[in-house]
Parts: sequence; C-alpha cells; structure tokens
Amino acid sequence: MVAVEPEYCHQCGEKLVVQTIHGRERKVCPACGHVHFRNAVPAADVIVRDETDVLLMEPFGRDAWELPGGHPEIEEEPVDAATRELAEETGVEAKPADLRLLSVVHSTHRELHYNMITYVVDYEETEGSVIPGEEARDVKFWPLERIFSSPAETRQIDRRVLQLSFDR
Ligand SMILES: [Zn+2]
Repeated sequence: MVAVEPEYCHQCGEKLVVQTIHGRERKVCPACGHVHFRNAVPAADVIVRDETDVLLMEPFGRDAWELPGGHPEIEEEPVDAATRELAEETGVEAKPADLRLLSVVHSTHRELHYNMITYVVDYEETEGSVIPGEEARDVKFWPLERIFSSPAETRQIDRRVLQLSFDR
C-alpha cells in the first residue's frame, strides 16, 4: 500500500513544504517543484456465495472477519487482484472471467480513503479447498443471517456490499 504521507521529495530528496494547489493543501518540493498528489487507494474484494452463505476470512491482528481481497499491484487489474487475494487468503481458486462486478463503494479507514471494488462469484464455480492462507487466522462460510445479527464481528463496508449482493 502506498498511502503514506511523504516528508521528502521522491524525485530529488528535498524536504517537502505545504502549499495550496488546486484549492487543497498539498506537499510540494521547493527544489524541483514536484507536487506530491495523494489519491484514494483501490481495493478489490470477492463475495464467494454458497446459497445464503458467504466466505469470510479472519485476518491476523484485526478484530473483525472480512471478505477476502486486497490492493491491486501497480500493473494488476482489479479482477486479477481479487482472484489472487482470494486464493492467497482462503485457498479458493476462481477464474477472473467468472467474477461479476457488483459495486464500487467508498470507505474511510484510519483517515485514509478507499474505493472498494467488489466482485461476486458462486462457490460452485470455484476450485481449490477452503484453507486459511498465511494472512488468515481462520476462513469459513458464514450464514448471511449471522452476519447481520451480530454486526460487531464483521466490517461495516462488507455488510454494505453484502446487502447489495443479496438484495436485502
Ligand atoms: Zn524535488
């Protein structure tokens, strides 16, 4: 992830100063003039549906279960990032062509802005086995009823896209 507040110019190494440019305070290099724009970070997530159950992963170091997904690499299409992260985190393998685009939802987390691109795939269209990857403490299918009846266990943004997917 690149959403780090820069202190020094990545072009020439000079310490940055703050100026108002295009109506917004931005970090600018006093030596070479480079403006360090910062942008919302894209994320790509997958809803794997099995009837009314949804595949969730429990990441290490966090207190909520999440949809599998992550940030696209610099040369990677979001749909490829979604299938790569799905396999890495849950062991479930999907073909990018089988993923259907559901939504793009904006979210904030620790004062950073994200655009979460969510895809849907049916579990029967996937291969592999449900096995926690390196980043996951656990992985399992959750009944939709449980997700909505105990909201403290999941992320609000995931419940938002699940409502869209299941038309609730
Ligand atoms: Zn510079």
